[in-house]
Amino acid sequence: MSSYDYDFFVIGAGSGGVRASRIAAKLGARVAVAEERYFGGTCVNVGCVPKKLYSYAAHFKDDFEDSRGFGWHFSNLHFDWATLKNNKDREINRLNSIYKSILDSSGVKIYESRARLLGPHHVQIGDEIRSSRHILLAVGGWPYVPAFEGAEHAVTSNEVFAMESAPKSIAIIGGGYIAVEFASFFARLGVDTTLIYRGSKLLRGFDEDLRDIITNELSRCTHVILESDISKLRNNQSHLEVVLTSGCELQVEKVVAATGRRPLTQDLGLENTRVQLNDKGAVKVDKDFRTAEHSVLAVGDVVDRVALTPVALMEGQWVARSLFDKKMGPVSYENLPSAVFCHPNLATCGYSEEQARAAGLTFEIYENRFNQLKHTLSGSEELSYAKLIVNQANDRVIGAHLIAPDAGELMQGIAVAMNAGATKSIFDATLGIHPTLAEEFVTLREKRVT
Ligand code: NDP
Repeated sequence: MSSYDYDFFVIGAGSGGVRASRIAAKLGARVAVAEERYFGGTCVNVGCVPKKLYSYAAHFKDDFEDSRGFGWHFSNLHFDWATLKNNKDREINRLNSIYKSILDSSGVKIYESRARLLGPHHVQIGDEIRSSRHILLAVGGWPYVPAFEGAEHAVTSNEVFAMESAPKSIAIIGGGYIAVEFASFFARLGVDTTLIYRGSKLLRGFDEDLRDIITNELSRCTHVILESDISKLRNNQSHLEVVLTSGCELQVEKVVAATGRRPLTQDLGLENTRVQLNDKGAVKVDKDFRTAEHSVLAVGDVVDRVALTPVALMEGQWVARSLFDKKMGPVSYENLPSAVFCHPNLATCGYSEEQARAAGLTFEIYENRFNQLKHTLSGSEELSYAKLIVNQANDRVIGAHLIAPDAGELMQGIAVAMNAGATKSIFDATLGIHPTLAEEFVTLREKRVT
């Protein structure tokens, strides 16, 4: 009989924490999870899920406009933010309770309270102290707002989904995932939207061709101000005055700081253990997700790897299986597919051209910029783009990039092919489904001449 109260104590019931708890319990471990906020974490409550619902709402605007060229006529079309917000709340509440009942039905003990480490094996939850053989930190991250005068008047992605009404105008600071996704949906839901980014093109870290196109596409529906940053924000009661580093000023109703997220490591009691943080405040872990305190592990956004829900799920599952079943092979971060739900959507898997070059690979580029069939009648100028990066040494497709409606849906299958080691010859030998956007990937024949 173990001398510990639990085999596995998980702090945080977000994507990684819930997955790890559930799998560990299924494998026979005595598991507890502490959650002080909401079940399902950022993704379910203030991230991926509500964002995708708002993005769906925004896509109707494009569809209504596109439909005119196909003979549809309508008048008196209007959008009601409150309907979207209330329906979204109802769905998020439903998901919340599903996450909780998954834990309940798996036999996981739930503490709806903050947990702090008291030592390598001890956790304090309210007035209770519990011991556990292993402890998992899965506390996620939190929006980061840089220090500028008046920063307290800015909101973050956390507050956007609680807005009861749409602002007339909004300024979004940042040029990453959240900034471009939020700018895309706000602009289509009737909000006069300005995107302010300190760099010269949006989505740093993505393939440069994608960045060029998305920067242009975003500029078609939002005011994009590049190479400038916010220096001051003044609250003038009726509006906010944004002062930029360039000296320009603008007046808006709301300002959203989409300037990154930071690991949520404050007040976790880490000082009572040997757990260490890196210079970004993330918990340092080894390849087995162990911190410097052997009994304490960490997964998901609190670790400085890849801040994506499927990655947290994979890591949580890996830890639970490795601890309570059998040691698994190392977690692979290769060929990670991801999508950005800006308009048009963007999706990517594997190397960008710049990463392939930095890795010293010799490669070929196949690409096509095109206007999708639908837009021959809709009249929309929205551009689509497909790009494959092929390793010359073995003909393998090592990078796939797409800008197109539902790009994430299309990229999922490409990621499977890439994980299976598909070569360009296999892509070429695969018949297209005609007429689709996805067939672009099997009909790219011309190498880019560099
Ligand atoms: P990102 O790291 O993607 O982008 C942050 C942006 O803020 C960058 O453009 C950055 O500029 C800018 N920035 C950072 N610090 C400052 C500063 N001091 N002043 C001005 N600008 C600044 O973070 P997000 O907040 O957009 O998203 C957080 C994470 O959440 C993402 O990294 C992603 O992992 C995840 N996410 C994933 C989504 C998806 O899968 N679709 C959707 C939303 C979020 P610079 O580029 O110059 O550094």
